Amino acid sequence: MTGKTNLPAGRQVAVSGIKASGVLHIGNYIGAIEQFVRLQSKYKMFVFIADLHAITVPQDPNELRENTLNVAALYIACGLDLKKTILFVQSHVPAHVELGWILNTLTPLGELERMTQFKDKSQDKGVLAGLLNYPTLMAADILLYRPDIVPVGEDQVQHVELTRTLARKFNSRFGSTFKEPKELLRKEGARIMAIDNPTKKMSKSAGSNNYIALTDEPDIIRKKIKTAVTDSGSEIKYDVNNKPGISNLLSIYSAFSGESIASLEKKYAGKNYGTFKSDLAELLVQKLSPIQEKYKSLLKNKKSLMKILDAGAKSANKVAEKTMAVVHQKIGLI
Ligand code: ATP
Ligand code: MG
Repeated sequence: MTGKTNLPAGRQVAVSGIKASGVLHIGNYIGAIEQFVRLQSKYKMFVFIADLHAITVPQDPNELRENTLNVAALYIACGLDLKKTILFVQSHVPAHVELGWILNTLTPLGELERMTQFKDKSQDKGVLAGLLNYPTLMAADILLYRPDIVPVGEDQVQHVELTRTLARKFNSRFGSTFKEPKELLRKEGARIMAIDNPTKKMSKSAGSNNYIALTDEPDIIRKKIKTAVTDSGSEIKYDVNNKPGISNLLSIYSAFSGESIASLEKKYAGKNYGTFKSDLAELLVQKLSPIQEKYKSLLKNKKSLMKILDAGAKSANKVAEKTMAVVHQKIGLI
């Protein structure tokens, strides 16, 4: 693995990233990574590890370093192909921060204050300015590579909308510079819910009981699925309003098996939650085991991972610097 890409010119571009803010979970896999793996054959993909976004909440430096490499290893273990995808660490491409700052100077405060994630967390004690400003950095992450699409989970749609707004604003003020990218969500599973509370999104930062980590051992997966919150009644039926727990488990089952939800409902007609849950646990164990094996083996050679990330940053910097040269010229930086 050299990190060298071998891409035909003229492909459409896709960009996305995941925060190095903890252990990746099946929601990240279904909503984001699985899309990257599917899209990389068709699009020129830029995938990064968002270490600068991770520090919008305090991170232990050693943990951040470790998480960054873990995310890199997981991406590859899940199937990112370094011949097709440019994989890099966000902070290795300084243009993200520079363009983020420039976009901040075009963003009305109110646009940032109305972001759902900010509203959700802004009442917490000790909220930092980075939490308010992070959507402009995210807009920069995207716009630098002039992508056509941004594959993400549903929670990020609002931020991609803001990205389009900022692209428009920049273009109308300084002349056509940025493409307006579209978010790409999968039809089912764009918002996987927490297994201990199916009314909340599964999140890295919400504690290990709310997620199934991609690195959870088989017995942990079995235990977590067994105790996952389900609904009253016994029917295995997709009904988000009345049966949010079982509907979420059906989405997970469908995403990992490729079977449609309708066919799963038929398959489990007349069967109880216990049988369904135990099959789901075995499915997850079976699908995650090869990823975990590859992940462990990649982490044995951290030097080689760093080499991959260095090569990725080199390729990403080339593209980002070109964009920044245009931006400098347009806004009058000499
Ligand atoms: P944090 O709690 O630190 O914000 P997170 O679990 O929300 O972590 P992010 O790094 O913020 O993960 O998001 C990475 C990608 O995974 C984004 O594209 C996001 O939309 C997607 N994603 C996150 N959670 C889910 C989920 N529960 N279902 C589907 N996609 C998700
Ligand atoms: Mg998140």
